[in-house]
Amino acid sequence: MLIIKDISTLHTYLNAYKDKGYSIGYIPTMGALHEGHGSLIEKSHNDNQKTIISIFINEKQFNDIQDFEAYPRNKGDDYDFCEKHNVHIVFEPDTKEIYPKEYKSIQNSHFKNILCDQYRQGHFDGVITVLNQLFSIIESDKVYFGEKDFQQLKIVEKFVNENFPNLKLVPVTTVRSAEGIALSSRNSKLSKKQMTDFISFQKEVFKFISHLDKKMDLIEANKKAEMFIKAYEKFDYFEFRNAANLNLEGKLLDSRLFYAIYKGSVRLIDNLKL
Ligand code: AMP
Repeated sequence: MLIIKDISTLHTYLNAYKDKGYSIGYIPTMGALHEGHGSLIEKSHNDNQKTIISIFINEKQFNDIQDFEAYPRNKGDDYDFCEKHNVHIVFEPDTKEIYPKEYKSIQNSHFKNILCDQYRQGHFDGVITVLNQLFSIIESDKVYFGEKDFQQLKIVEKFVNENFPNLKLVPVTTVRSAEGIALSSRNSKLSKKQMTDFISFQKEVFKFISHLDKKMDLIEANKKAEMFIKAYEKFDYFEFRNAANLNLEGKLLDSRLFYAIYKGSVRLIDNLKL
């Protein structure tokens, strides 16, 4: 496994892969890797001869500097994790490498002012900006994104279609713990008590959605969602949206339940298929 920090060394290896006609799968991450990331890696191994993962904590996508500073960092374990998953290249650039003096800052124009975009101002501009840099550097055949960050997946899908027509985006189902919570780097920040509370919350959520009539209109379902979450101490949103266009119209059957809640200062997001 190669651990590469600079673009020119990276290009030497990627060009050699391309000369040999290998297809390249790419997984962008912010590190603190877990089996959610592992599932993206395995999917890439299935589809490609070579798999590259990037680890870069992109300050530009953090609307809150404290959140950036507190983001879990886990270098040694990440290398072991990648080795275990037979990753071919770990690309771990520093900020200067990704953002030279001149780079293109991009503003997202899709799925605006809803869900995370409403509560994390500029977050998706930062995501798209860094991906524009990374996609241009790596020029892979395929790129893998988790459904765990569903709004991000939808936004990146639009961005790729408009700007990188030769790149194929592959969505990957959310990996969950045995108790049903989505694996996330941020889970490591939860205390034992917060984790237990989060697991019971998730169980209640599963119970709540299992009792709903799937033919129900989203407007009615969202009234019920509002009632359910009302007593919860801190959350940004908890609502059903159409999975195709993220609108609030249509039937429950075609929707997902999206939530962003807090446990202490840790913000946790998930979305559940009906
Ligand atoms: P992150 O390192 O959190 O930026 O995530 C990198 C990629 O892994 C994103 O495409 C995420 O959607 C995906 N991912 C994170 N957690 C999970 C999970 N539990 N299941 C599947 N994919 C995930």
